[in-house]
Amino acid sequence: MDKKEFRKQAHQMVDWMADYLETKDSFHVSPKINPGEIYHQIPEMAPEEGEDYDAIFKDFKDIILPGMTHWQHPSFFGYFPANNSEPSILAEMLTATLGAQCMSWITSPAATELEERVLEWMRDAKGICSTWKGVIQDTASTATLSAILAARERACSYSINENGYSGREKFRVYSSEHVHSSIDKALKISGIGQSNLVRIAVDKTYAMRPADLEKAIQEDIINGFTPLCVVSALGTTSSTAIDPIKRIGEICQMYNIWHHIDAAFAGTALFLPECQWMIEGHETADSYVFNPHKWMFTNFDCSVLYLKNPHFLVNTFSLTPEYLKSNMDAEVNNYRDWGIQLGRRFRALKLWFVLRSYGLIGIRAKLRHHLALAKTLIMEMEAHHDIEILAPVPLNTICFRYNPTSRYTLDELNYINEKWMNLVNQSGRVFFTHTKLEGKFAIRWVIGQTDVEDFHIKEAWNLLLHKLPDAKPYVKE
Ligand code: PLP
Repeated sequence: MDKKEFRKQAHQMVDWMADYLETKDSFHVSPKINPGEIYHQIPEMAPEEGEDYDAIFKDFKDIILPGMTHWQHPSFFGYFPANNSEPSILAEMLTATLGAQCMSWITSPAATELEERVLEWMRDAKGICSTWKGVIQDTASTATLSAILAARERACSYSINENGYSGREKFRVYSSEHVHSSIDKALKISGIGQSNLVRIAVDKTYAMRPADLEKAIQEDIINGFTPLCVVSALGTTSSTAIDPIKRIGEICQMYNIWHHIDAAFAGTALFLPECQWMIEGHETADSYVFNPHKWMFTNFDCSVLYLKNPHFLVNTFSLTPEYLKSNMDAEVNNYRDWGIQLGRRFRALKLWFVLRSYGLIGIRAKLRHHLALAKTLIMEMEAHHDIEILAPVPLNTICFRYNPTSRYTLDELNYINEKWMNLVNQSGRVFFTHTKLEGKFAIRWVIGQTDVEDFHIKEAWNLLLHKLPDAKPYVKE
């Protein structure tokens, strides 16, 4: 493709993108596709000859698009959102155009310095300690793994980095029983071992019980383990329960344990002063992660890790072979030393665009809008005698189920609710996912899409009511 053709195609594509964004709620949220259906439409061999761009773009529309789940659909209520926004998309286009590799200051000084500055902006706007420093990672999974590796190396004076495990280390990591699977994965990868994740019981709000945490730590010490890290959740994945950060932090300090706060989804709420109580006491923690790619209108991927003492991270990851050395190294920040990967995308650009385009006032307004929509919906649900809300709703994730009478067993109710959710999802108008809370099948309704409005919520609620399983005697098919 020559530059002239690029210009022509790019203009047309931007028109297509704008059309898509304007009409995204007319698509089926999730595709009706059988496994293999897309795969078999794609030729078995790569083309020998270059193809015409029109043909490529036609296949994108005819083959790929029908197999997409529309994550930006305002009625996508499943998992956590990966919401984007127009300024973020524009920045991504620039990032791709510049094609910069931002591993070191010298490889793109603006990328490093913009990253430093926007992370300071967000840190200050969110009420995080002004001395903490941040780095952008691809995902919260990577950021948490990085924090756990840094905790591991701090605890053993970098001896595992140097010599590998000696066999004497018996580390333990603690989290609530509602921990995200990325913590399990971090223990698998770091050599600590998944069996050394101690899952602490939760209270009736599904938040970690600090007294149980302390008891587990004391027992582990008696049994010869080294308590290494506590991962507290500022917003669990199932129900956005908020662990008591301050009390957990005090326990970590008492036993010299790294405290990592996983705020992957809910961390965006800290832009609201009225939500900053959630992070009260974080000053004693060591690290904190949140994903702008979930609820901050910033394209996937973009995860931000803040650290009280970044040198633990840098000492864990830093490596400077000859070919990466520069005469500026003593004066500058080389983000390649702040994580696992060497090559780095220019992710700060989209954060900068989003922050400047919305302004903090605009971001807060959007978040408050989502919280208000959730509040109104909760009132509707509470007024319905057959709907049960299964967990407190500190933000915008509502876990609910149909529970008409006490006539059904737990298994029957789980079956009925799963069927109900699938039926509603099959309509293509909405998309919900589920979790289990104390064995109860709970449909999760997360209201965090960039363009979600009251009428999307009303339509989804009416659809749910329309498909409500009637109260006939239960018969399993
Ligand atoms: N932590 C929590 C609490 C999450 O909810 C999630 C994802 O939903 C993650 C971590 C993992 O996020 P990522 O996909 O960025 O690795």
